Amino acid sequence: MQLYKQHTIKIYNSLTGEKELFTPINQDYIGMYVCGPTVYSNVHLGNVRTFMSFDMIFRYFKHLGYKVRYVRNITDAGHLENDADVGEDKITKKARLEQIEPMEVVQRYTVDFHNILNTFNFLPPSIEPTATGHIIEQIELIKTIIDNGFGYQVNGSVYFDVHKYNKTNNYGILSKRKLEDLIHNTRELDGQSDKRNPQDFALWKKAEPTHIMRWPSPWSDGFPGWHLECTAMSTKYLGEQFDIHGGGMDLKFPHHECEIAQNQAALGKAPVNYWMHANMLELNGARMSKSTGNIINPNELLSGKNDKMSQAFSPSAIRFFMMQSSYRSVLDLTNDGLLASEKGFNRLMEAIKLLQNSPTSKTSTFNVQEWTQKCYDAMNDDFNTPILIAHLFEAVKIINGLKEQKSTLTLEDLELLKHTLNAFVFDVLGLQTEGQNQEKGASKLNGTVELLIQLRQEARANKNWALSDQIRDQLLELGIKLNDGKDGTTFNI
Ligand code: AMP
Ligand code: ZN
Repeated sequence: MQLYKQHTIKIYNSLTGEKELFTPINQDYIGMYVCGPTVYSNVHLGNVRTFMSFDMIFRYFKHLGYKVRYVRNITDAGHLENDADVGEDKITKKARLEQIEPMEVVQRYTVDFHNILNTFNFLPPSIEPTATGHIIEQIELIKTIIDNGFGYQVNGSVYFDVHKYNKTNNYGILSKRKLEDLIHNTRELDGQSDKRNPQDFALWKKAEPTHIMRWPSPWSDGFPGWHLECTAMSTKYLGEQFDIHGGGMDLKFPHHECEIAQNQAALGKAPVNYWMHANMLELNGARMSKSTGNIINPNELLSGKNDKMSQAFSPSAIRFFMMQSSYRSVLDLTNDGLLASEKGFNRLMEAIKLLQNSPTSKTSTFNVQEWTQKCYDAMNDDFNTPILIAHLFEAVKIINGLKEQKSTLTLEDLELLKHTLNAFVFDVLGLQTEGQNQEKGASKLNGTVELLIQLRQEARANKNWALSDQIRDQLLELGIKLNDGKDGTTFNI
């Protein structure tokens, strides 16, 4: 259903600093690009929050019936330490420390990223491109930027000429920084002497002999600059201009500022109509940071095995906690906050259960249509999930009153209430009932046992009877019995 035809959405555009009426470039379609993770370590909850904000936005657009192409990349090369132009590649460094291939690092943490997002019931994006899969596109972009006079080559590396660009464009348009201030505040770092000015940024870096991840280019064997991949991949899949670009607040400068500059320099246009930035997650009132140890990873929170929270929390309780604050506010993760959210989430789920067998009456004491509209109004106002949730709890009160006839609803109103509640709770906020969570767990377990059966068959084919028996016996110890038959192996749990 093309619900979107009945709704006008306002989005806070970081570029203008204002809530603006959202008008997609093509009326039925939305193109949205979100900067994905650099896959060199396990995702932390801060990352999860940013991606969850955009998952909710993606879900709402889909709910309204838009055809959304949601592109979220994987950064698997080019992102150097400290987000700078000098230093080691984050992935290469990890590979060196662990003595494995960089692509093993990429694989390990991409799998971890997907597992975590799956646990929190994320929808997969429409396209998940990688930086290393788009080296040719990045080289082509650099050529165009050089041809247009905004890039220069020094010793096999190519830099973006920020000062020249700023003469005819506004470098700082998004982050509201002024080049003069940047000049005063930039320290000249060792190794940056190749640049005409310290504010210039790398489009292509010549690889040192020890740098493993390298590709041939017209300038040197090297690797692309971090900012370039997003310009290459967003415009490849969404066009030279597209609707929405998102990411965490910390990416506004320099990453997104540089993306705009690259796009203007290569294609002569501002790439994005609406820039959206999700705010940071803190832990007990302080920045989440690996260096201070003030950090908690998703699995620690889910399992309860940590020294910061009093108990384990379910994925939906955590998701509900995150949805109770606006994506634009800083959110502080605390034990009390999570406990309160868990309670609220359970109350909501109980009301939804109760609604299945609620009595109906000839008249309604609650205006469900008006309430439905209020739910949409909240989401249409820059995806205001805390206000939406406040409205959902109005409905909870009504539902809880139906049994004792403290409130009444006609059949028609009851159906509308069910429909709206289900749509917002499950489709838009992405919450799950315990049963849905368990079903997912069961399907994972089935998949794992199938995999072990397959490995056992391979072991038998190789006459590795010891391994084949070990798999069978240890599964039996766990209460999973394998039954070998003519048509293969089945199992009982
Ligand atoms: P990274 O893998 O570091 O490039 O980060 C992936 C995404 O997570 C980016 O959009 C970051 O802005 C975002 N992010 C990083 N730390 C936090 C945090 N503490 N809270 C919310 N988002 C974060
Ligand atoms: Zn990016």
